[in-house]
Amino acid sequence: MLSDDTSAQAGAYWGGKTALSKQTTLLGVTVTTWALAGRYGMHVAVPHVYFSVIFCVLPLAWLLKTLRRVRRKGSGLCLHCGYDLRASRDRCPECGTAIS
Ligand SMILES: [Zn+2]
Repeated sequence: MLSDDTSAQAGAYWGGKTALSKQTTLLGVTVTTWALAGRYGMHVAVPHVYFSVIFCVLPLAWLLKTLRRVRRKGSGLCLHCGYDLRASRDRCPECGTAIS
């Protein structure tokens, strides 16, 4: 499941000099560090699917919450706790939320 592939190699050939690079891959995230003529750098590559998952969580949570509120409102249930409010007038007897 967890894989760690670390390798050091003589990498790209830039400007007449060969850069020394080290590449590490863990769960699809690749970190490449390089050194060339006294200069150092790092490049991080992250698969797009990670960002898709991260940025889908909040909209999906909002959608599920909205759908639950719509369903509860249409069924005469408390929007907060889902208690049956058909016999109640002004407040939910379960959680105390005002009935609008
Ligand atoms: Zn309630």
